[in-house]
Amino acid sequence: MRIVVKIGTSTLAHSTGHLNIRRVEELCTVLSDIKNAGHQVILVSSGAIGMGVGKLGLLQRPTDIPTKQASAAVGQCELMYTYDRLFAMFNHTVGQLLITGDDMENEKRHDNFSNTINRLLELNALPIINENDTVATEEIAIGDNDTLAAMVAQSIRADKLILLSDIDGVFTADPHTVPDAKLIQRIPEINAEVMALAGAAGSKLGTGGMVTKFHAAKICIACGCEMVIANGNHPAALYDILEGKPVGTAFGEEAK
Ligand code: GLU
Repeated sequence: MRIVVKIGTSTLAHSTGHLNIRRVEELCTVLSDIKNAGHQVILVSSGAIGMGVGKLGLLQRPTDIPTKQASAAVGQCELMYTYDRLFAMFNHTVGQLLITGDDMENEKRHDNFSNTINRLLELNALPIINENDTVATEEIAIGDNDTLAAMVAQSIRADKLILLSDIDGVFTADPHTVPDAKLIQRIPEINAEVMALAGAAGSKLGTGGMVTKFHAAKICIACGCEMVIANGNHPAALYDILEGKPVGTAFGEEAK
C-alpha cells in the first residue's frame, strides 16, 4: 500500500516549541516498521516554524513574515536532522522535498515533483515533505499541510492519507465542552452539514484545524484515496488503520 502520513506541529512539538522526543521517536519507529512490512511511506511533516521558534529562543510564535520565514529556515534543518538520525537507526534513508503552491499548479514542476517522489520510492527512500515556508508567501503558498498532504496523495495516487492530529477525529460536538459528544467513525462525503461540524470540533493549535482537514478530505474523496484523521499521540494506531480497523474518523465510502 502507498500511504501518506501527515503530522502536525502540535503533535510533534511541546508547547515550548521544542521537540516532543518520545512522540517523534515512536512515530519514526512505527513508520520504519510499516516500511519494513512492505508499504511505501511518504511523510508530510509540519513543525519547521514551531521548532525554529524554539531553537532561536523567540518568546512567541512570530506574526511577521520575515521572522516566520527565518524560523522555518532554522526549524526545517532541525526537523530533517532529527528524522535523518531516527530513521537511520532502522536503516531507512530519508529525502527532503520542500514545495509551494506553484509547484503543484505548474505542470512541468508538478511532473518533476512526482517523478522525484516516485524515484525516491523506487530507491526505497522515505520522502519527507513540507511547504517551502522560507519563500512561500500568501500568493504562492498552499498555506496548510492538510491540503498539501491531500495534493501529494492525489498526485502520487496514494491508497491512504492519514492525518495525525491532536484530536481523536471528528466529533458530533466539541468534546472539550460537550461531555457526551460522539466520535464520528466515517464521513462518506463533505456536505454543508459536515462543514458545520468544523467549528465545533476544531483543534485550537496548529495552522490547520478542522476546516483544512475537510478541505483535504474533499480532495481525497474526489480521487478515491481514503483519508483518516487520527490522534497522533499514539503513532502505533497506524498499524490498526492499515489493518482497516476503525480508528479516528475515515472519509469516503467504505471500500467493499
Ligand atoms: N509548513 C508549516 C511548518 O512546517 C506548517 C503548516 C501547517 O501546520 O499546516 O511549520
